[in-house]
Amino acid sequence: MSTYQYFRSQGLCGTCGKEHSSESLCNVCKRKRFARMSRKINIHKAKGICTKCFKHPASSTSQFCTSCSKAKYESNKKYRKAIYERLKSQGICVLCGIEDARPGRVMCQECTDKEKQRAQQKLFKILTA
Ligand SMILES: [Zn+2]
Ligand SMILES: [Zn+2]
Ligand SMILES: [Zn+2]
Repeated sequence: MSTYQYFRSQGLCGTCGKEHSSESLCNVCKRKRFARMSRKINIHKAKGICTKCFKHPASSTSQFCTSCSKAKYESNKKYRKAIYERLKSQGICVLCGIEDARPGRVMCQECTDKEKQRAQQKLFKILTA
């Protein structure tokens, strides 16, 4: 058994082994880790290095390198898709996630109207550009 596992089995923080914690880290260690992480991110950000892998140069448009941005985009897409499917199967509006969707549709009335408006505005912009 590792120290971490031993601490956890005693209901203690897996890192310091001092504080009782229901999670793997106690609040003290969580704060410390957060501070360390933010410092690391700030240093790398200032140098123009990706703040996810801390290896590759960040792209000009984001704080991540190309491969990390892509990975993030993919996981976001997967995440959004999972939420979409869940809401859809529950008959809840996939846009606001609050209202019931209209029968046979994936969005509620309010969101349908909003989307329609947005599409019209977009079209208007294209036509008047
Ligand atoms: Zn701790
Ligand atoms: Zn990266
Ligand atoms: Zn809605």
